[in-house]
Amino acid sequence: MSLSFAHDTLGQRLLFGSGMAATNVAAEVDRLGATRVMLIAAPFEQAIADTVMADVNIHVTYNDVVQHVPIEKAEDARRVAAENKVDLIVSVGGGSTTGLAKAIALTTGIPIIAVATTYAGSEATNVWGLTEAARKTTGVDARVLPVTVVYDAELTYSLPVELSVASGMNALAHCVDSLWAPRADPINQALAAEGIRALAAGLPLVAQNPTDASGREQALYGAYLSAVAFASAGSGMHHKICHVLGGTYNLPHAQTHATVLPYVLAFNAPFAPEADARIADAFGATSGLEGLNELRRVLDAPRALKDYGFTEDNIPEAVSIFLPLIPADNPRTPTTENLTELLHAAWAGSTPKSD
Ligand code: NAD
Repeated sequence: MSLSFAHDTLGQRLLFGSGMAATNVAAEVDRLGATRVMLIAAPFEQAIADTVMADVNIHVTYNDVVQHVPIEKAEDARRVAAENKVDLIVSVGGGSTTGLAKAIALTTGIPIIAVATTYAGSEATNVWGLTEAARKTTGVDARVLPVTVVYDAELTYSLPVELSVASGMNALAHCVDSLWAPRADPINQALAAEGIRALAAGLPLVAQNPTDASGREQALYGAYLSAVAFASAGSGMHHKICHVLGGTYNLPHAQTHATVLPYVLAFNAPFAPEADARIADAFGATSGLEGLNELRRVLDAPRALKDYGFTEDNIPEAVSIFLPLIPADNPRTPTTENLTELLHAAWAGSTPKSD
């Protein structure tokens, strides 16, 4: 079989080690020669940030983090960075915190060290997101890719099991969607498959014991692979749907991804047999959907969009917004009818099945 493809690898340093975040961040701040450091952490994340920043001289701290980065919050944070002549941002937290750091970097070019405390994976992508007038806009820009990512499994011990599961399923969604996304290639598909394997191994251990280092490490490793694969392969159908649901209906990011994923897999799998075989293999199951459904059962993963504030009345409008966004080369051709059926099933939480 001949291979022909173009693949870009993003340049980024990853420092991975349990109990090593403070040492690794201080060493990176020195290496980058920064003297006016801005710490970004949400109020919930401040205690973690205190540990991480123990050996760093912080010039200014910013806590006003809101999910999906409303434009006015981004502008306020940019003003604070400019007024304080910040030369390095250290973000400590989940995807929302990383997202705010990226919003500053987008217009200023200030470098970011991202210390990630969930499995969202934003730290490993060059994708930014902003929300304005209830519409979420995303874009790609080299300036928003953190120069360094720091992972420390101990920082994730406090992430509640329910949120760990939802966030882990978000990472799994990056992997699954990467297999048929517009720029899917053999390199990012390999990363995605290994990401599924690592997440499927790590997440049940996390759910059993949230302070088990090996489960947390596997989950973080899988989350990084998932984000690198997603950044390279681009947004497939799953991400287009969740992006609209999050931005327009203000649904929680990780739970939305966790809920929608099995319906997208059930929708596409019969039309993407190679991807399905790969997912099945990574799960050690006979089909991708069987593997995913079993993992969801073990983890008691989120089941229905109606549990997160999405209403049945929203379905026609949501479908009309995301239908035109779905990539033309999606394995199965989307229509108003089949997407309405998909979203209705995800809203109700009925068992995801392939036709
Ligand atoms: P989040 O960052 O909103 O975090 C969820 C909650 O968990 C918050 O209250 C946070 O303070 C808390 N939290 C985080 N880490 C914790 C820890 N270790 N212990 C206890 N509490 C903790 O949620 P998320 O799912 O990580 O990120 C979602 C956001 O990231 C969305 O806006 C999404 O669009 C964005 N995102 C962007 C990309 C990208 O490539 N640009 C990729 C993935 C996600």
